[in-house]
Amino acid sequence: MDESDLYRRWMRLVENLEREGIIKSERVKRAFLRVPRYKFVSDRYKEYAHVDEPLPIPAGQTISAPHMVAIMLELAELEDGMNVLEVGAGSGWNAALIYELVKREVYTIERVSDLVEFARKNLERAGYKDKVYVIWGDGTKGFPPNAPYDRIIVTAGAPKVPQPLIEQLKVGGKLLIPVGNYHLWQELLEVIKLDEENKIKIKNHGGVAFVPLIGEHGWRE
Ligand code: SAM
Repeated sequence: MDESDLYRRWMRLVENLEREGIIKSERVKRAFLRVPRYKFVSDRYKEYAHVDEPLPIPAGQTISAPHMVAIMLELAELEDGMNVLEVGAGSGWNAALIYELVKREVYTIERVSDLVEFARKNLERAGYKDKVYVIWGDGTKGFPPNAPYDRIIVTAGAPKVPQPLIEQLKVGGKLLIPVGNYHLWQELLEVIKLDEENKIKIKNHGGVAFVPLIGEHGWRE
């Protein structure tokens, strides 16, 4: 299948997500159209990149389903110039989408070194080399050198909200994170930081299924 077929299928998926009310804003739609998922999966999965389901990436991990990514990006309410940290780089796809929504450098942390390489290669090929920085490390501890953040988006499921992530948010900033069980299921939480003392307000957006967030403030290996 050539690139124009892949892109046509991708456009159809984006239109469906919009029709279903999952993609709500022009901004998220534009980002999806600029960053097709097939650029972030191995060759053998490219022809399935428009299917609205997670797909395998190296190290037994997954690239999330397009509807899930769209839901989180709509909730994030990203604006130009926002400072965003992603935890769980995986393929690099979501970080590239975030870049398109903030138009400034994005930091994304990944704990599996093979995936750091995978994400960097995908991002470089897709034109995001100096736009998205993939850091190798434990994202449950955040990434203090670039804090405080307007938004932190966690793409793996945690047992609880990691305190360092709250500390590294700006007041008024927002953390999106799935919290719940190791495997199925978690609930997607929107955590708003209310003051410098790390007081928070939590809104629950319902059931989701993510791979586990493993680290000092997450699940144990
Ligand atoms: N956002 C990714 C994308 O666009 O392809 C998909 C992420 S995948 C669902 C979850 C990722 O979180 C996996 O790559 C996993 O290795 C990573 N992960 C799990 N625990 C982590 C941690 N403590 N710090 C950083 N990454 C972690």
